[in-house]
Amino acid sequence: MPNAVEPRTESPIHLADALALLAEPDAGAWRPIAGGTDVMVQITGEIGEPPERLVDLWGLDELRGIEVDGDVLSIGALTTYTELRRSPIVAEMLPVLGEVAATIGAAQIQNRGTIGGNVINASPAGDTLPVLLALDAEMLLVSASGERTVAASEFWPAYRQTARRHDELLRAVRIPLASDRQVRFRKVGTRRAQAISKVVMALAWRGANGQPWHDVRLALGSMAATTVRAAATEGVLNVALPTRETADAAAAALAGELHPIDDVRSTADYRLAVAGRILHRLIRDDGGW
Ligand SMILES: Cc1cc2nc3c(=O)[nH]c(=O)nc-3n(C[C@H](O)[C@H](O)[C@H](O)COP(=O)(O)OP(=O)(O)OC[C@H]3O[C@@H](n4cnc5c(N)ncnc54)[C@H](O)[C@@H]3O)c2cc1C
Repeated sequence: MPNAVEPRTESPIHLADALALLAEPDAGAWRPIAGGTDVMVQITGEIGEPPERLVDLWGLDELRGIEVDGDVLSIGALTTYTELRRSPIVAEMLPVLGEVAATIGAAQIQNRGTIGGNVINASPAGDTLPVLLALDAEMLLVSASGERTVAASEFWPAYRQTARRHDELLRAVRIPLASDRQVRFRKVGTRRAQAISKVVMALAWRGANGQPWHDVRLALGSMAATTVRAAATEGVLNVALPTRETADAAAAALAGELHPIDDVRSTADYRLAVAGRILHRLIRDDGGW
């Protein structure tokens, strides 16, 4: 039978107090909870180990806020999807984040679910992860002993694992801004709302309009145990113009390097076919053919 014992919960309002709890010798027993949209599903013990103790982050204003800090967009870990959708800063600087937020769950989940929760939950189907990977984001982690940043490319080393230590909280997601960078995102699920991704893709590149692309990043979710980059396909797109021939070559390269999973949500064959089509479409959107 699932364990439905209510966990002990602390609700600090200062970051230092939350970090002090996590610095206790048995810190691993404390489980942070932000919006709770993932944690509450696990609380009955029907899916994995239920948490014994919760540290409720909702009162920590130090983890909130969206701001431009030099050439970096800093997004507090407690930022909800609704806040991302409504933020004028996001709309101006990185509208793709609002697009992603609009595809997550539906209004209820968007009002409670946070970007930090998505990052730390580390689901291979987490919709923000490919975008953060494609944008070379960094995760700002904080503990009682200080702060450190970890690149998105090193943050999710294995299935549902992160680089976060038990004594750390994710404080913010930091995304470098570049005026000549473009980014496109597409998610395919069973429905337009309340659907976990079958395929989710983010494609970023730099270069002026009409010029060859460079610094291409192609990241995919729901394909493997972790969110992945498609290096061979990036190689085809780098220093290329977004022509139909480039799109054909890139889609072929993607089919050659992806080895999608088969699971309850989709088959490997479907994922492979859809990934190629989405990539073609994203390139065409820029090429205008
Ligand atoms: C009906 C439904 C639909 C959903 N649809 C989608 C969807 O379309 N796409 C998608 O990607 N996800 C979806 N989700 C999953 C979930 O909503 C997201 O992953 C959400 O972003 C989690 O954020 P949260 O604040 O609720 O996290 P929580 O549940 O509070 O926490 C999630 C994990 O992160 C940890 N954590 C949270 N914040 C911090 C922090 N600052 N520092 C350290 N650890 C932290 C927690 O300990 C926990 O391990 C859905 C969930 C439900 C229930």
